[in-house]
Amino acid sequence: MSDGVDFGYERVPAGEKARRVRGVFDSVAGKYDLMNDLMSGGLHRLWKRYAVAVSGVRPGARVLDLAGGTGDLARLFSKAAGRDGRVVLTDINGAMLAAGRDKLIDAGSPLEVVQCDAEALPFPDRAFDAVTIGFGLRNVTRKERALAEMRRVTAPGGVAMVLEFSQVAAPLKPAYDWYSFNVLPKLGRIVAGDESSYRYLAESIRMHPDQETLKAMMERSGFDRVEYHNLTAGVVALHLGRVY
Ligand code: SAM
Repeated sequence: MSDGVDFGYERVPAGEKARRVRGVFDSVAGKYDLMNDLMSGGLHRLWKRYAVAVSGVRPGARVLDLAGGTGDLARLFSKAAGRDGRVVLTDINGAMLAAGRDKLIDAGSPLEVVQCDAEALPFPDRAFDAVTIGFGLRNVTRKERALAEMRRVTAPGGVAMVLEFSQVAAPLKPAYDWYSFNVLPKLGRIVAGDESSYRYLAESIRMHPDQETLKAMMERSGFDRVEYHNLTAGVVALHLGRVY
């Protein structure tokens, strides 16, 4: 299949991946936050806080959160950007966005919410000081297109950030693989009633570009001074690309 793309360990036609990914997030939306806490032992909260801390987002900043799902990053950014800032929560999936919008309203911080594909953003050039995609790029069919769109909407002086699962340090790999392929799918079955979506999670992490490859992809997309920070021994990496 020459134009196939990865959906976990499967090769599927490019047009099929978005439909399969939608199925995953339609299925898990209601239990998404609980599963994140259980799977990571709460670590995902620290990874997200770290991303916001190094973003340099200050009061008044314009922030775009892509594939923002249930809105954790957007909520943290809205605190950093303050009343004079603008934070837009976006995602391709209506069920995830609805969960995020409700959570933000309950938390007393309603935000602008836009349903859109990270590969084709409905925003003008250079509109944001910070653009983020958290645990989302892995699920996008054409990652280069999403990175090019992130570059397009980032203002000069701004930053784009990719927070994503990455390649864990070699000594931890056997334990991490065991956890990923034995514990995660079972947890998914018990808590979310969905084993296959959490097997997809484990597989998609292995198929995602490693730290150096993603750095090179961001450089090719036109970002300056691309760097990455390994978090939790590379379980997650935060890539930052500047626009001058
Ligand atoms: N950013 C949130 C977080 O860190 O908790 C949610 C991450 S969740 C693992 C991945 C999200 O990516 C899902 O909500 C999914 O709908 C979204 N997604 C997948 N493909 C997308 C695309 N092409 N454009 C925008 N969002 C997409």
